[in-house]
Amino acid sequence: MQSYVISIPKGTLFCNATGSSQDTRKSNWIKYWKDYSGHRGSYDIKCCSAGCGNQAKYGGHVYFRSNEINLSRYLCIIPICKTCNDDKDCNYNKAGNNLWFVLRRNINALQLPYLGKRPTSADEWKELYGNLPHT
Ligand SMILES: [Zn+2]
Repeated sequence: MQSYVISIPKGTLFCNATGSSQDTRKSNWIKYWKDYSGHRGSYDIKCCSAGCGNQAKYGGHVYFRSNEINLSRYLCIIPICKTCNDDKDCNYNKAGNNLWFVLRRNINALQLPYLGKRPTSADEWKELYGNLPHT
């Protein structure tokens, strides 16, 4: 389990993974995160985006950006709200300079296998990424 969990420090920049709504390998991504991230405590948790006060009812597919580690290689699931999850200004394609979310707190992100390609359909998600860990 632990090999798929990566600890991301508060303040790290992240953005949504374009096209991830077509990743249908799980129907409930927040449950997947809760079950396997090592999260302790309440299941009632706030969105990971700093400054957002909404409850995180979704497990969002995100990429991280950091000067210290090349986190952009890691496609991860973290708790996020619907508004932030649907924010197209913070998706991977448009995240140029300032349009990144800032991580609210240290978080255990659930890392998905990443092959360097961005799938564009449900079939491609399955084909490129295969089965999810733990399933
Ligand atoms: Zn939010």
